[in-house]
Amino acid sequence: MRKPIIAGNWKMNKLSPEAVELAGELKNKAGGIADREIVLCPPFTVLSSVKEVIAGSSIRLGAQNMHWEISGAYTGEVSPTMLKDIGCDYVILGHSERRQYFGETDEMVNKKTKIAFSIGLIPIVCVGETLPQRETGETLAVIEEQIKAGLSGLTEEESKGLVVAYEPVWAIGTGKTATPDQAEEVQRFIRKLLGQMFGKENAQAIRILYGGSINPDNISALMSCENVDGGLVGGASLKAESFLKVIGY
Ligand code: PEP
Repeated sequence: MRKPIIAGNWKMNKLSPEAVELAGELKNKAGGIADREIVLCPPFTVLSSVKEVIAGSSIRLGAQNMHWEISGAYTGEVSPTMLKDIGCDYVILGHSERRQYFGETDEMVNKKTKIAFSIGLIPIVCVGETLPQRETGETLAVIEEQIKAGLSGLTEEESKGLVVAYEPVWAIGTGKTATPDQAEEVQRFIRKLLGQMFGKENAQAIRILYGGSINPDNISALMSCENVDGGLVGGASLKAESFLKVIGY
């Protein structure tokens, strides 16, 4: 049985007072949930204050990105050990906004994924096709490339702890959600690929999340798919009311 994960990606939103308020409301209402993992991924600047608020609850902390080196001359970057030091358990890697606006490549995602495992951070590795790629029938080929290149060289042991998020780029922040059938088709394909790379049994342990305009009305249909093990939630994670409804699916 794979334990579902609902992760909130706050993106570049929330100053400290709002972040503390939101994390506090979530802790009060969902801080004792044990049958699914709740992960909050706020911006770097409020990681520490959110960590303080959720301390003692079952809610976990994640970051939205990191560098692939432990330290060094990389002005403006944040290292994996810095995230660990501040109390992160998870880190989102290869989000389509990182790929689109900051030139992140599968090779970079691969370096980040490897270092994450080596220091005990759980990577949530994002993959997904653009609208033109879907319309020209390239979806599965694009996903295959991103999975094979982004996850190459991981050990079978590491693979079991991996989290993958299928996020069709056309569904992120657009209000257009993939249908449960569309999500299941790609996520089943991802698990098949993971089976080829890491062995069938290990692939069964890997959580594969769906992300893209998840809201309280569409989450339960998505979660009923065999290969949808949770959600990566952007917009709907910014308000306690909607995120709590998504968590409750
Ligand atoms: C995301 O940023 O990962 C995301 C899925 O955003 P949204 O839910 O707003 O589409």
